[in-house]
Amino acid sequence: MARPHFQWGSILLLCLGLEMGLVSSGSGAGFPLTQTDAILYNRPYTELKTVAGKMGMRYQQSRDMKTGTLSSRWTSLKFSQNSRVMLLNNFKIYLGFAVAGSKGRLYLSSQDMNNIIRPLLTPQVFSHKPVLKKIVIDPGHGGRDPGCSNDSLGMLEKDLVLAWAKQLKDALQKRGYQVLLTRHSDRYVENTNRFKYANDVNADLFLSLHFNSVQRPSVHGIETYVYTPLGQPSSSRSKVEEIDLKPRPANQYDPWSTLAGFNIQRHLIQSIGGVDRGLKRARFSMLSGLNCPGVLLEGGFFSNRTEAKKIKSAWHRKKLAEAVALGVDAYHDTLKKISGKDA
Ligand SMILES: [Zn+2]
Repeated sequence: MARPHFQWGSILLLCLGLEMGLVSSGSGAGFPLTQTDAILYNRPYTELKTVAGKMGMRYQQSRDMKTGTLSSRWTSLKFSQNSRVMLLNNFKIYLGFAVAGSKGRLYLSSQDMNNIIRPLLTPQVFSHKPVLKKIVIDPGHGGRDPGCSNDSLGMLEKDLVLAWAKQLKDALQKRGYQVLLTRHSDRYVENTNRFKYANDVNADLFLSLHFNSVQRPSVHGIETYVYTPLGQPSSSRSKVEEIDLKPRPANQYDPWSTLAGFNIQRHLIQSIGGVDRGLKRARFSMLSGLNCPGVLLEGGFFSNRTEAKKIKSAWHRKKLAEAVALGVDAYHDTLKKISGKDA
């Protein structure tokens, strides 16, 4: 499906200034929950109307009170009651908690306001803005761990993510980034050694490459993951569990991982088309110990014959690599804009 071209730079510029007064010095990635309107399900929530006001956007709620839309000249955010999916200019993003309805009003969890809305619309409010020079690409699996497979097409995930990684390395190097890989051959690498390597070389961004597989052959499309923010459940479940309350090093970079992940996912969907499976969250072990922003990409399904055939072709993987590089550049452009220096 073709999507309209949005002027993304304007999203950021629109909000510059409006939110600057809210920066609390030395607060790190965490942000005080100053806009709590209600406590629902024992958690702070902010009314969508208030969110719109804070972001300098218009707010419209449907007559049946089931959907709320925030809009400005270049940006629209759509929310639905009881849903964990929000749409930013029609690109799918998974919230930590479902949008709540109470007495005809719609509420967003204040954690989602801080973990998703602010990183994407007003990233300048966060301190410790990262730079982006060195990127570690992590081709998933390898050696005795083949990942998923498509036997009839003779495909192993470990081989095709490595091929994709080498194409992505070329695409990123052409754009001036320094690029390193966690493996260059069919070699087994422990997941914890993947983030350790990125930390050892002082990476500014970590990109883990994977392909998907499920039982149902009809399922297809691209999805992007970031490490689940502290205190929220991963996209695959809805209840907060004990593991969600333990901070991991990756959590220091939650806003930047979300910003990078969203930009990469939207460029993948714009370039490749097909089903947008969205920006999701999971506590993947290879991301957990990162000392930099990290993103895990699922570039399509081996279990869908049409998509698997595409993935097998070098031409399609080059397209995937170019799209990821465009997303990385878009993330980098935002970093440069908000830091006011050579990021
Ligand atoms: Zn995999």
